[in-house]
Amino acid sequence: MSDAATSSSASASGAAIRASDPACLFCRIVAGEIPAARVHEGAAVIGIRDIAPRAPTHVLFLSRQHIASAAELTVADGPLLGQLFGAAADFARAEGLTEAGYRMVTNVGEWGGQTVGHLHVHLLGGRAMAWPPG
Ligand code: AMP
Ligand code: ZN
Repeated sequence: MSDAATSSSASASGAAIRASDPACLFCRIVAGEIPAARVHEGAAVIGIRDIAPRAPTHVLFLSRQHIASAAELTVADGPLLGQLFGAAADFARAEGLTEAGYRMVTNVGEWGGQTVGHLHVHLLGGRAMAWPPG
């Protein structure tokens, strides 16, 4: 990863502006270089169908900016998180998942089960979920 890819600077609102990482799969999907089944296009967030769904509905909501994981978030990212979770909640409502319930989860690091190092929230619905997760 280059220095440019990992650099960040402060915006007027205080949230860091992270550069896109050309080696990152989800940055390439955000840029349109790799195709994905898009279900949401927001200012700061996109939604795509997971390529290997683990539930009848399995959608990923990604930040447009490259953020390696939720471990990098600060309080200044609150508006971004509102868009991320709000887009997922709106999608779940539109899909008729809200009454039965669903799961939103973000994995962090190796023990958290994260396989793509770019912030995303999984929306899983359409079946009952077990707790605790494996
Ligand atoms: P995580 O393991 O929490 O980092 O989640 C990464 C998710 O991305 C997994 O559920 C993968 O199935 C999914 N995934 C990997 N490659 C693609 C892709 N090209 N398009 C859509 N989803 C993908
Ligand atoms: Zn990325």
